[in-house]
Amino acid sequence: MEGTRPLEGAEGSEPPAEVGDDKIPSVRIFDKRPRSRDFDREIFPSEGGYLVEFSNQGGKHHENPNPPNLRKRRMTCLVSEDGGCENVTDNQTGLCSDHNYKKGRPRVILIHWADWIGRIIPPGRRREDCLTWAPAHLSIIERFVVWTQSEEEQRQPRLKKLDGFVSDLMSTIKGNTPDSTTLQRDLESSSGAMAAQVVSNAREVVNRNFPSEEYASVSVGDWSYKPRELDESVKLGSVPIRTMAALLFLGVASEEANRGDLWTYLQCGRRQEEAKRASVYMPMAYYYLRAHLGATKNMATQSVRQPGSRSLA
Ligand SMILES: [Zn+2]
Repeated sequence: MEGTRPLEGAEGSEPPAEVGDDKIPSVRIFDKRPRSRDFDREIFPSEGGYLVEFSNQGGKHHENPNPPNLRKRRMTCLVSEDGGCENVTDNQTGLCSDHNYKKGRPRVILIHWADWIGRIIPPGRRREDCLTWAPAHLSIIERFVVWTQSEEEQRQPRLKKLDGFVSDLMSTIKGNTPDSTTLQRDLESSSGAMAAQVVSNAREVVNRNFPSEEYASVSVGDWSYKPRELDESVKLGSVPIRTMAALLFLGVASEEANRGDLWTYLQCGRRQEEAKRASVYMPMAYYYLRAHLGATKNMATQSVRQPGSRSLA
């Protein structure tokens, strides 16, 4: 079942990993919370007719794995949001002793305030037509891998170029990308500088690895993408490599925001080793399995499968 992975290691109220309490409906906090501000910002002007945008309008809100009270401050129990509990707690799960996890009790799951995505707007389409068009990062990587393999004499230089790009992307995103709720809170209560920083990071990493002067006319070939609201795939012809690179950056950054917890741990002065989620490493593992270790698409997909992950589109 999606979205029910426990906060392993969070003290006091975490359920054991294999607990069989799925018959008790979970309590979902912030599940129906309205989003008061939208964010839609392009990475760079249209190239080859394509636009790539960072947006909070993905519409599929994920479980928030971040312990809400890592600093163990006194706070009102999280169930106050949806259930009116007025108890005070300093548990890092943010749940009082009446609502923390015990066998036979419903599990309390925090839902992110927004679903951040990297959106593609193909030539001739408007943003309104493709609000949730966010190709899965594994699907983007797959297209890149096929591109490296399409011309034998180009294989090594292309792999070398991609290796440098994913390495730069990793070091930029890892630990520097706030979780989805934090990005949304910053947007609603302040200027949205955190989301703007993700956009500027994407632009810098793409420009550094695929500068416009050299790569503006390079394409990874034809591609297709199937939006979840359509029955058929949309054909995407001659997709510019800079468009794909921007999409991959945002896809991985969004995965980190929607499913990762590293930023939160580091912000609270904790060590990287304490983070519980693989997050950003999952797409990178897929890349190396496919590009360097000879795994088939099926083998690589099976190797990186994790609970609740978006399927390979
Ligand atoms: Zn409570």
